[in-house]
Amino acid sequence: QNNNILLQVSSLKVGYGGIQAVKGIDFEVRTGELVSLIGSNGAGKTTTMKAITGSLTFSDGDIRYQGESIRGQGAWDLVKKGLVMVPEGRGVFARMTIVENLQMGAFIRRDKAGILADIDRMFALFPRLKERRDQLAGTMSGGEQQMLAMARALMSQPKLLLLDEPSMGLSPIMVDKIFEVVRDVYAQGVTVLLVEQNASRALAIANRGYVMESGIITMTGPGKELLSDPKVRAAYLGE
Ligand code: ATP
Repeated sequence: QNNNILLQVSSLKVGYGGIQAVKGIDFEVRTGELVSLIGSNGAGKTTTMKAITGSLTFSDGDIRYQGESIRGQGAWDLVKKGLVMVPEGRGVFARMTIVENLQMGAFIRRDKAGILADIDRMFALFPRLKERRDQLAGTMSGGEQQMLAMARALMSQPKLLLLDEPSMGLSPIMVDKIFEVVRDVYAQGVTVLLVEQNASRALAIANRGYVMESGIITMTGPGKELLSDPKVRAAYLGE
């Protein structure tokens, strides 16, 4: 069972100067799961994601991926190992076209035919991107940029995809589309760790969820169970 664990976060503490944003958390993601981490503004979700992907150093605890500590490893090493994050705010290459962004996503690959086939797969998954393949990414809508950021990440053939607030700032229709795509990606065999403020949507599609408050994890369980929990409903679903 243990060898099924893809990502293991243990006793993780992360601070900014004197301020402790993550105060010792434990959670894991098993191969083939979709796990959602929910919590309100400032709970420490993004900080946790940044610690995993090496853009923030941490003072205590450990993060293991595929059984190996990844402490101190940079984004490049992690992408090569299949651990890829789509950051909050997306970060597409604004002055490149959609196709060029997708090609950049495949920078670690050498299989030209496979890359071309995957670009076609991305266009099937996101028809909007296909229509706009030669448009500069910076001129696309927020929802379109989010789709591009996800497609670009998928071009590196991740084993574990970390999504930081993919629905943030999007219109209701785009939010629907993004959650649909997260499900599709998961159905195609990619393990997903989803960070979201949209608790109801994130828990509805999750195998398991974690609730984070002020730097600690306060609840965990199957997504549907958390969704029907009165405390979760009161705190995060406005009931
Ligand atoms: P949000 O959904 O608003 O992004 P979050 O759960 O992702 O919330 P974090 O962004 O991880 O929360 O922030 C956790 C805490 O750390 C907050 O109190 C925040 O003010 C603080 N924090 C985040 N980034 C920094 C920074 N660069 N310097 C100092 N404090 C920071």
